[in-house]
Amino acid sequence: MIDSDEHDKHHTGEREKTPTGTYVSDLAHFLDSSGKLSGRAPMEVREMAGFLVLILDKVTIHFPDTSSGIGTGVRCRSRNCNGEIMGALDSIDSPVMWYCPECGNYGTISNWRGSQWDNTGIGGNP
Ligand SMILES: [Zn+2]
Repeated sequence: MIDSDEHDKHHTGEREKTPTGTYVSDLAHFLDSSGKLSGRAPMEVREMAGFLVLILDKVTIHFPDTSSGIGTGVRCRSRNCNGEIMGALDSIDSPVMWYCPECGNYGTISNWRGSQWDNTGIGGNP
C-alpha cells in the first residue's frame, strides 16, 4: 500500500482513492500558481496528473459531442489492464468523467475549466 501512504503523507485532500477504484480528482490540486503541473508533487501524484490532463485534453477537444463518452486513446493505469480510457463531459459546468471499460476504474476531474487543457474554446472561469 505504498500508494496510499504517499497520499496520506502528502495529504492531497480531494484526491481520494477508494477501494473500488474510484478517483475523485480536483485539477487545481495538481497545479502550481502559474497553472502548470506541480513539479514538487510525489511521482505517483505527478503521474496521475499527467494521466488526467491527457484525458482532459481529448475530451474537451470533442466537447460538446462527449455526453455519451469518447475514446481518449489513453491507456488505463491499472496494472495488468490494457483498457483504453473513455472520457465523457455532459455540460461545461460538469466534472469530466472517465472510465475504463476493461477493469471498471473510473473517476471524475473537477476544476478543469480554464486550465491549459481546456480546449472547449468557451472560455475560462468567470
Ligand atoms: Zn483498466
